Amino acid sequence: MRFANSRLEPIWDKVRASERLSREDGLALFESDDLLGVGRMADHAKSRREGDRVYFVINRHITPTNVCVLSCAFCGFARKPGEAGAYEHTIEDMVAMVKDETREVHIVGGHHPDWPFEYYERMIQAIRAARPDVQIKALTAAEVDYFWRRWKIEPKEALSRLKAAGLQSMPGGGAEIFSPRLAKLLKYTGKADPERWCEIHGIAHALGIKTNATMLYGHVETLAERVDHLLRLREQQDASGGFVTFIPLAYQVAATKLVPRQTPPADSLKTIAVSRLLLDNFPHVEAYWVTLGEETTSVALHFGADDVNGTLEDERIQHLSGAQTPAGVAREQLFRMIRDAGKIPVERDALYNVVKIWP
Ligand code: SF4
Repeated sequence: MRFANSRLEPIWDKVRASERLSREDGLALFESDDLLGVGRMADHAKSRREGDRVYFVINRHITPTNVCVLSCAFCGFARKPGEAGAYEHTIEDMVAMVKDETREVHIVGGHHPDWPFEYYERMIQAIRAARPDVQIKALTAAEVDYFWRRWKIEPKEALSRLKAAGLQSMPGGGAEIFSPRLAKLLKYTGKADPERWCEIHGIAHALGIKTNATMLYGHVETLAERVDHLLRLREQQDASGGFVTFIPLAYQVAATKLVPRQTPPADSLKTIAVSRLLLDNFPHVEAYWVTLGEETTSVALHFGADDVNGTLEDERIQHLSGAQTPAGVAREQLFRMIRDAGKIPVERDALYNVVKIWP
């Protein structure tokens, strides 16, 4: 492989030899203007794992409430109690949202000031009882940490009880970007810090609960902060081993306007590629179509991504923050994103058991 930038050559040697990349390598990849060179390396790393397979799941989001005690500067989703647009779903509402075809529900919401931990426990029990065939992926590490802050329920107890209620895996949200500078600047010091976020994922992994991880990028973070975030996740995966998928989340500008415009597709493609290359111990890296758009998602399948998430019926968090994509797509649209890239759609469940390969 030839590169426009000679700094990439020793990195390519390491990638071919399956050697771990360093912090300096990560920075060199982000700083390189050879987007296609970085992408081809990531595609090599992805293809070595998964060939041409690209995963998706028939899923829906349930966001129990957007009422939240915090005011993260990048969040266009949260509302204060009584504010216009604030909502709270009942457990019956949420059970009724799960349709026949749904294979996975993804439950994430605001840090509600008054809902007790038992409300979440009952919510998961009720969905499990009504739809025992549906897998429940619920509650970020930030929400589990909030159960401790608000109700003094230790994460191990909270996760053990939620698992007994029917929780099978955890989403990767609430990580934002692991940087004390940004936590202060963007007003998210009130939620789990990087050590706590990783500690809670480690507890989940020890309990046999698989989890995902995210990174919010494309706002006022530096490239070094992105690399540090990825390396902290890699370190945690070495320690506890239960992460399944890494999902880079492009910041949506419309509601909170931390920067004048959304980060361009080239930056998202490079971020996906560098993630695939640095996170050598993560099974999957996702192109999240909700924040990328369908066209960029399709291209990202040549930049290291092997998953497009799913049909995502009723996605609210990114849409209330300004995402312009539809709030859910049909299976045929996912097929189009995957097949336009020349890849093979593989329908999965929440835990990556293959449901069907769609030739
Ligand atoms: S990002 Fe989460 S914790 Fe922060 S304000 Fe929004 S809903 Fe609340």
